[in-house]
Amino acid sequence: MGLLDKLETIATTRETLLPKGINPFNVVIEEIYSATEGSIDGQRVILAGTNNYLGLTFDPRCIAAAQETLGKEGTGTTGSRMANGTFSGHRALEKELALFYGCNSAIVFSTGFVTNLGMISTLAGPGDVIVLDADSHASIYDACRMSGAEMIRFRHNKPVDLEKKLRRLGSKSANTLIIVEGIYSMLGDCAPLAEIVALKKKYGAWLMVDEAHSMGVLGERGRGLAEAVGVEEDVDFTVGTFSKSLGSIGGYCVSNHRELDLVRYLSRSYIFTASPSPASISSVRAALKVIGSEPQHRTKLWENVEQLYQGLKQLGFELGADPGPIVAIRVPTKESALFAWKAILVKGIYVNLVFPPAAPAGLSLLRCSISTAHTSEQIDYILKTFAELKPMMTAT
Ligand code: PMP
Repeated sequence: MGLLDKLETIATTRETLLPKGINPFNVVIEEIYSATEGSIDGQRVILAGTNNYLGLTFDPRCIAAAQETLGKEGTGTTGSRMANGTFSGHRALEKELALFYGCNSAIVFSTGFVTNLGMISTLAGPGDVIVLDADSHASIYDACRMSGAEMIRFRHNKPVDLEKKLRRLGSKSANTLIIVEGIYSMLGDCAPLAEIVALKKKYGAWLMVDEAHSMGVLGERGRGLAEAVGVEEDVDFTVGTFSKSLGSIGGYCVSNHRELDLVRYLSRSYIFTASPSPASISSVRAALKVIGSEPQHRTKLWENVEQLYQGLKQLGFELGADPGPIVAIRVPTKESALFAWKAILVKGIYVNLVFPPAAPAGLSLLRCSISTAHTSEQIDYILKTFAELKPMMTAT
């Protein structure tokens, strides 16, 4: 088999899977009008699959901050912080993140994906163990493989299974990093964090929580699931992204362990990649200020969540376990999910179509993400449309 033959196999699979004219994995959003509206195939659509949980991509303060920095500092850093130097904005943001979380240190990375690669593969290595939730994000899986540590999966959100795995490790648990997420990106359910923390303490392991989807969404101050559950002190490393509630691009880790700062000198995904552009950093700084000082956006988000989640539940759809800004409808077959996705788009609503392996447990999902910026009328329209298309979405 030649080098490129495997790509041909993918082309064939794609052709058999995707009927002509439907490609949910190559959607072009031709114009963006607001945090919740854009145009696809020349049609104005409601964007309900963006992870723009607080709608801050269009907050005038975030835009103004980015524009000002763009004019002053240019379009990019053109290199890594280690080689080319840190811009003052990166430093300032790290201080502000540490302050926001009440932690000693913070590191900013170029994306959430490389944050996980850099943090996990630096913290754990050969001879160490990583115990991770089976539904973890691809970046966590890739990081585990890169680390060279022994990798053990526990069943999604099943502390009983986690304990079984920890018990077997014996004294190795002191060299074990447990990794879970705040809100899981596909089904939108939360980790049972209080139970996981209890096990981490019982077995003397370490804990990392990826709050990519829960930062800005959960907790009184928007710090995520650990804040909401009251266990922040027991989380060793919190990682997150700038690409969801913070409305930009980049990633971060915060911790009370002073050693975090040393990760910079070892992490290849920090050392060998360009740092985030100064304008992105400025918009994140403005967004962080909004999240820290204006809880009303979170309150509105949860009103919207309730409207969509309870509305879909009443319509009889099978949803993820917890209400949250990710609302995933389980669809019985790939084919019905595909045709329903297209029919929803034709009605003027863009949601995400997710197949395995991106979706867990062999599920096909129509995944909506809801935002503070959605109006109640938009959510009503989504509900009305889903009610109309329900026969398609539940066809076996
Ligand atoms: N962690 C989780 C849990 C995610 O869902 C994602 C992205 N969807 C990432 C990390 C990666 O974040 P980024 O988009 O900033 O690379």
